[in-house]
Amino acid sequence: MVVIVEKQITRTGERVETQKTELADAHCHLDMMKDWELVKKSIDSGVLTLITNGVDNRTNKKTLELCDKRNIFGAIGIDPENALKLEEEDLDEEVEKVAKMVKDNMDKVVAIGEIGLDYTKAGTFELVGKQKTVFERMLDIATKFDLPVCVHSRNAMDDVLATLEAREMQKVQLHFFEGNVQQAMKAVRSGYMISMPSIDSTKRRQVIKDVPLDKLLCESDSPAAGESPKDVEKVARLVAEIKGLTYERASEALTLNTKRFFNIQTKLGFMRN
Ligand SMILES: [Zn+2]
Repeated sequence: MVVIVEKQITRTGERVETQKTELADAHCHLDMMKDWELVKKSIDSGVLTLITNGVDNRTNKKTLELCDKRNIFGAIGIDPENALKLEEEDLDEEVEKVAKMVKDNMDKVVAIGEIGLDYTKAGTFELVGKQKTVFERMLDIATKFDLPVCVHSRNAMDDVLATLEAREMQKVQLHFFEGNVQQAMKAVRSGYMISMPSIDSTKRRQVIKDVPLDKLLCESDSPAAGESPKDVEKVARLVAEIKGLTYERASEALTLNTKRFFNIQTKLGFMRN
């Protein structure tokens, strides 16, 4: 399943076979893509599964419009930055909107995301409280609909892990993982997935080395970071190098992890029924 072979016959009657390695992008923001050609090129190159995330109800709506239920699936939620922009009196209504969008689009929505805590954006005790409230409400929705969560954490890893553990969340993707090895291993013991971007660092290399292959995901976070979903190739190469695997073997594992985590096979089944 990992190698896609395309057979084409050229104008001169020659048979040409091209081999591509299948990959998945476990976290991106396709609604922000200025050049849709980059998305098409990524899919053509073998990135056949893309999980695109909304960050507020405006982008959640756009996210759902982009889901084709074939290659592109959606995560919807309110992220910590946008949580801070919510007026107190609108909070219930905005949370309800997310829940309704999930309920009405179960064939497109594969996760609640992007959600989480970002202490670089919340400078006061009060603002941290606001982020925590919205994060908890998003976790309520995930629990209600039995969906995985895509969690953003910046300068907040210990609080994020404590919140998820207190809530006994089972299906967690720690997106753009920024923690250290200890935090990564704690997360792995809770069954969470460590999602790696293409941005390389000594700390990330150590995490990739220690985290079991079946707990790793690869993501582009494009275009917020990186250029396009195709960036996941770089992550797969890095995982292959650090774990001493072939590129194909690393890609296969990372792709299967993504499909399994987001229940993509079931969603594809829905489409065919
Ligand atoms: Zn993101």
